[in-house]
Amino acid sequence: MANRIAAGEVVERPASVVKEFVENSIDAGAAHVSVQIEGGGTRLIRVLDDGEGMDQDDILLSLERHATSKLTDEGQLSAIATLGFRGEALPSIASVSRMTITSRPAGAELGARVEIRHGRVLKVHEMGCAKGTVLEVRDLFGNMPARKKFLKTAPTELAHIEEVVKNYALAYPRIGFVYQVDEREVFSVSAMADDLEARVRAVGGRRAANAPLVRLDEAADGVRVHGYLVPPDEMLATAGRLRLFVNGRVIRERMVVHALAEGLRGFLMKGARPAGALFIEVPPASVDVNVHPTKQEVRFQRPTLVHQLVSLAAREGMMRYQRALQDELFVVPAPKVRRPDPSSPPVVSASVEEPPSTWAQPELAFAPLTSREPAPAAKPVASAPVPAAAPAAVPAGCPVGSDALRPIGQLLGTYILCEGEEGLVVIDQHAAHERLLFEEMKRQYAAGAVARQALLFPKVIECDREEKRLLARFAAEISALGVDIEPFGGDSYVVKAVPAIVGHLAAEVIVRDILTQLESGGSGAGSKTEAVLAGMACKAAIKGGQSLQPEEISALLRRMREAEIFSHCPHGRPVVKQFTVTDIKRWFHRG
Ligand code: ADP
Ligand code: MG
Repeated sequence: MANRIAAGEVVERPASVVKEFVENSIDAGAAHVSVQIEGGGTRLIRVLDDGEGMDQDDILLSLERHATSKLTDEGQLSAIATLGFRGEALPSIASVSRMTITSRPAGAELGARVEIRHGRVLKVHEMGCAKGTVLEVRDLFGNMPARKKFLKTAPTELAHIEEVVKNYALAYPRIGFVYQVDEREVFSVSAMADDLEARVRAVGGRRAANAPLVRLDEAADGVRVHGYLVPPDEMLATAGRLRLFVNGRVIRERMVVHALAEGLRGFLMKGARPAGALFIEVPPASVDVNVHPTKQEVRFQRPTLVHQLVSLAAREGMMRYQRALQDELFVVPAPKVRRPDPSSPPVVSASVEEPPSTWAQPELAFAPLTSREPAPAAKPVASAPVPAAAPAAVPAGCPVGSDALRPIGQLLGTYILCEGEEGLVVIDQHAAHERLLFEEMKRQYAAGAVARQALLFPKVIECDREEKRLLARFAAEISALGVDIEPFGGDSYVVKAVPAIVGHLAAEVIVRDILTQLESGGSGAGSKTEAVLAGMACKAAIKGGQSLQPEEISALLRRMREAEIFSHCPHGRPVVKQFTVTDIKRWFHRG
């Protein structure tokens, strides 16, 4: 009875059985694990491994409740290094199915097989078998019709099982996995290399095979956070999921998701969630994994450290991603020098002379690309010119100032087409400019120097109660964002200056937009002001459908090349897409 009650907690569905068996195989030191399913998991679940195996006595012992070979003394419970430790899985699963355990330890001549039905041992016998263990479960929940009724359709149960196998395949790149359904192979990953990136790509399927990935890796105070995220635009796809692991154990942890989202702030579209595989390694003694029967939740001893490290890893990962993409797009690969000759002059690629463009000059960073009507009755207030971003560090050996991107023209007045080193490069002009302006605005805001534009004729606006509340609550932020607004008696306020970047818009529109963003733009002052800045950048950026002069295009490319961040707009949309020569040739069956 106790076993069946435990089964209620541990064994929810076929995927729970697969999880417990695969964990046991991993704990047994297996190099290969094979999972075979029939009938959505209710007909057969079979997990084979080549781990250390069990002799006949061990098999019988493993069926005893709370019998585990993994804890030898009390102290180990506070520093769990194996996946299993509760000794509940086998007896629980055995009590609600027909189970067979076949196993042989290395060195033993013969193996043993034990057959159990609904918790009762029916047969024990010796037999020849491969080293390792085969666990088989037939007719799961056969003696629990109520529970069996609650199982979903076979495809749903199979999806859960596949998720379990993929999770462990990700967590243990040194182990080979084969997953078969009804004798058909669904996926397999070889045990050859302990290569996480290759495993991430293999598990991610065809889409992840060649996709760019954002690599994360940060460590401090004995904690390491590493893994791979898909780029922000892929996070928009609802299919993308985040797989989280702590010390090789799959977990769900909102704190970590929150930390990732924070590190990705300014990249994640509203409502989008980070996607990828993230691994957190902490000393076993600093995490409590024994807080949930299925061990999916953990408690960190130092949650703040983990949170900070995860955020940092995401931020740094995105910065590395920028550098790598910049190199790929803008840097002409150094020519291969076969015969080093110190007397020959160094190879210097000619820098393309940039036609004069006001837009490219830092102090006029916000000058519109095309002549817009100057905002009426407005004059710029002298504000300290804000230094443009320091040019990105160019790796040694790469020619500085060479233009690897040659603009071809504009498509639909919206996309800039370029010939690049690898093929065709398509740039979303609005998204690109929006990101550049957003970064510039963030710098100005951080320096307390958002460029303002005084209104020659201050504008009086009326505010309702909610707006007045927001104006009071965020007075400091609003002023720092470049708006001078003062009470003018009653419900009236007078606006005397607006941020220069949106100086072409009506003061009233600017103020109301800012209030909306401050109210709804995420949680925390940082994400709210960034939402405001992103809104301004969006309004000020060149639009889709706006035709650009060649010099404007080259100015935009130049600024992208020198920017710290350029790959995605502040809402997570991609700025650049590439079609490689290989892709293009394939379209035309040429190679
Ligand atoms: P736990 O994993 O928490 O110890 P289980 O009920 O999952 O508890 O397993 C009980 C015991 O059976 C394990 O401690 C281990 O000694 C043994 N065992 C289970 N599966 C295997 C396997 N695939 N290979 C070797 N030993 C196993
Ligand atoms: Mg176990």
